[in-house]
Order: sequence, then C-alpha cells, then structure tokens
Amino acid sequence: MTHLRTRAVHAGQHPDPASGAIAMPITQSTAFAYGSLERGAAIFAGEAEGYRYGRYGNPTVAALEAKMADLEGAEAAVAFASGTAATAATVLALLQPGDELVFLGPLYGGTEGLLRSLGERWGLRVTDATATGLAAALSPATRMVWVEPLTNPSLQMHDLAAVAATAHAHGAITVADNTFCTPCLTRPLAHGIDLVVHSMTKYLGGHGDATGGLVAGRAAHIAQIRKTGLGHIGASLAAQEAFLFLRGIKTLPLRMGAHCEGAQAVAEFLASHPAVRTVHYPGLPSHPQHALALRQMEGGFGGMVTLELARGERSAAAGVLNALKLFAQAVSLGDVDSLACHPASTTHSFVSPEARAAAGVGEGMIRLSVGIEHPDDLIADLDQALASLAA
Ligand code: PLP
Repeated sequence: MTHLRTRAVHAGQHPDPASGAIAMPITQSTAFAYGSLERGAAIFAGEAEGYRYGRYGNPTVAALEAKMADLEGAEAAVAFASGTAATAATVLALLQPGDELVFLGPLYGGTEGLLRSLGERWGLRVTDATATGLAAALSPATRMVWVEPLTNPSLQMHDLAAVAATAHAHGAITVADNTFCTPCLTRPLAHGIDLVVHSMTKYLGGHGDATGGLVAGRAAHIAQIRKTGLGHIGASLAAQEAFLFLRGIKTLPLRMGAHCEGAQAVAEFLASHPAVRTVHYPGLPSHPQHALALRQMEGGFGGMVTLELARGERSAAAGVLNALKLFAQAVSLGDVDSLACHPASTTHSFVSPEARAAAGVGEGMIRLSVGIEHPDDLIADLDQALASLAA
C-alpha cells in the first residue's frame, strides 16, 4: 500500500474476524473481559496487549489511531475527544513547570489561549516568536516549539524543515498542528517535526458531525501523552465518534482534491474582483510564500481562502456575508459544505484590537472554508454577494 488514497481506505482496518464486516464495528463497551487474573495483571502492568477499560482504549478508536499513524508516517498515534484536548495532553505530558514553550503564530486562538492560561497557572514560560523569528526566541529553558504550518486566518506559512532544524539545535522538540493541511497536503514528520496534532473535527471528519483530536509521533512520546491525556485527564474519544472519523478519512484524499480545486478557483476569481483588496491563498503566485508552498505542500494548497474587502469597514463585510446563499456563516472549517466567517467579530473577537491588528485581522476580512460544491456555483454565490456592495 504505497499510495495515500489506498492507505486512507485500508490502513488500520481489516474485515471483522467474527462477522466479516468491512466497515469497522463500533465497540460500545466500557469494560473488557481479560479472562484470567494473570492476564489482567499483565495488561495492567503493560506487559500484555489488551483492552481493559474504555478510558484507556477501545478497538474502534485503536483502528483510527493506527490509520492516522500510517497516514502521518508516525510510529504511533493517540486520539482525543477534541483537538484542544490533544493540545492540552501534549503540553501537560511533555513539559513541566519552569520549562519554556515557544510558538510561531498566529496560532488558532483557542490554542494560544490554552497555552497562555497553562503558562500563567502552571509556571510555564510561553513565548510568541512570530515577530522575532524562532532563533532569537529560543533560550536554554525552551523544551517545545509549537507551529501551525498554515496559519489562521491570514494563511501565512511556516517552513517546517527550518523550524525543526533550529529547534533541534537547541534540544527542543517540535509540534505541528496539521489541521489545515492534513496528511494529504503536508506530512510534518517528513520535514523533521517530532509530533503532529490534529483537530479531527475539521477535514479528517469532513462532514461537520463529529468532534475529535489526535497526536501522532514517536511511540515513547505517544505513550506519555496517552497516559496523561487518557489515563489522568480522561479526554478519551468515544467509539461512535471514532467510527465517523474512520469513515470520513476513507474519502479524505478525494475531498481534499475537491477542496483544493474549489479554493484555487475561488481565490483566482476573488483576486481579479474590484471589490477585493487582497486575497490570502498559498496557491496564488502573489502569495508571499508561494515558493515555500510549492516546496512544502503536495497536491494542492488547501481549502481555506481569506479575503480583505477594498472597503475595510464591518458594514461592508456584513453586506457580503449576509448576502451569501451557498456559504453558511459559521466558524468551523473543513466540512464538505462551504462556510464563511468574519474573524474580527467571531474567532478573534476576544483578542485586543492591537493583537487583532498584529495578526492582520481587519473589519473587512472574510474567511472562507471552501467545501466540495462545484466551484462555478461557489463563484456565482460570491459574485452576487460582492455585487451587493455596489448596490
Ligand atoms: N487547531 C486548529 C488549527 C483549529 O482550527 C482548531 C479549532 O478550530 C483546533 C486546533 C481545536 O480543535 P477542536 O475544536 O477540535 O478542539
């Protein structure tokens, strides 16, 4: 199985030995019988393979973890109840008070909020290296570097190989949140990153009907993260949700192809529209890091497109967003349905005006999550919505 499309269907799964079922059965059980005292003792001591209690593991969840480890090229993976739980477990398992975490942002607001809160309440130094550059921010206390390869909402890119080399030279481990790219477009571990985090809620599920997270990387790291995140915090993914992710990932490469095709067409349309001042999309030659995108991303440039209207006030953004018919106004992303949001009044409404300005989030900015509908229909919807500005 060398091709990602084949692995997305088959990795981690095989027909159920008991029934022959090809779809992974949902194992809806809290406790698992281990048969004898001796085997129970061995499982609890970590000396034998086997399930014991739902919080620690479940066969449906294990199939999902194996599939994602395969797709990311990792030794192991562990699933969580949300992307945020995956982030929290990674930090709590691998760092301790007094350590420094350096991040290259802008990060997803929830991640930055979590890291800063952990920093304040738990004695962790959290440093934003976005403006200074990574090398200048690293100190002897730096243990972890956190990066999003493609940032939200301005879709800037970070060079993963360079981040990994710089961090490793200082003895820090590197974590990449690969939610926006998915392993179809970028495999951070192949660029030297140590751990990959996902909000599976987005493209991996793909249908906007399940919340989950995942961390993939070396087996020793994953064992630590599993023990903290599942055993101690209990942020385990439910079997029903794991089933939905297993089903979603089978079509991930096909969906990502359609997302990329649609987003490229939408970005090109918007770039030529007089009511639009700027389009942020790594697939446009005008993107400042288009060369890096060509090097780091495979098979497309993702499904997210962010635009800034020529008229930069909130009422202009409201006029366009409220006129959209196919794009639903919502803050998630990566669904088969196209979504649109106004970051300044939603995802970035809790940050200060100064921080919003630093992240480049203006009142005239609109973020699009381009779904898998036909690009012509999406462009027609945007065209009529932008026309409402002239009226
Ligand atoms: N990482 C990124 C890049 C995200 O966009 C999000 C959510 O929007 C998360 C992590 C958090 O994931 P979840 O909502 O599944 O907790």
